[in-house]
Amino acid sequence: MYLKSIEIQGFKSFANKISLKFHKGITGIVGPNGSGKSNVADAVRWVLGEQSAKQLRGSKMEDVIFSGTESRKPLGFAYVAITLDNSDHKLAIAYDEVTVARRVYRSGESEYLINGSACRLKDVQELFFDTGIGKEGYSIIGQGQIDKILSGKPEERRELFDEAAGIVKFKKRKQAAQKNLEAEKQNLCRVNDILSELE
Ligand code: ATP
Repeated sequence: MYLKSIEIQGFKSFANKISLKFHKGITGIVGPNGSGKSNVADAVRWVLGEQSAKQLRGSKMEDVIFSGTESRKPLGFAYVAITLDNSDHKLAIAYDEVTVARRVYRSGESEYLINGSACRLKDVQELFFDTGIGKEGYSIIGQGQIDKILSGKPEERRELFDEAAGIVKFKKRKQAAQKNLEAEKQNLCRVNDILSELE
């Protein structure tokens, strides 16, 4: 599995639609300071479901939408799509190529798409669990992140190892099952209360 291309429109400094093609192996992105190199990495992080504006170097989510320049008006939406080669089927989906897209409007309305079909954030997250690619994965190492990992809490470091070991999806499913169990316990309590009132 590898990143084949990325399409960006209206995201941060990229007002016009651009498409970057990648090949197997190492690709370097070079350019002057402030030309948008880190914005490309932010775009990948964002399309994978990043919900924290701070992680995207902004103060609110709207900051990802092109805010205009002296010669160009701000845009009303941001769109990013990444296409991954999945011929080795590392992603549990029956396609050799997977495109994940995210769009957000200034109104706050947003959508995720997997191969053109609308889906939930949860579906995008589940697709990438244990692949190292998700927004919590180790495939995007931001500036200063190595320091954060080294000086972070042991539990935070553990999350990285969990992802590499491929057990995140099981942990998430366990958490969801425990939540459901707790809700059912509450329901049972309520039913018992009603029954004892009726008796
Ligand atoms: P450096 O080499 O200094 O790290 P860089 O090439 O990584 O720089 P980025 O940090 O990716 O550059 O891009 C910064 C530029 O993106 C700034 O000029 C900033 O004004 C612009 N930018 C960020 N958000 C937006 C936005 N919402 N609308 C328009 N431009 C934006």
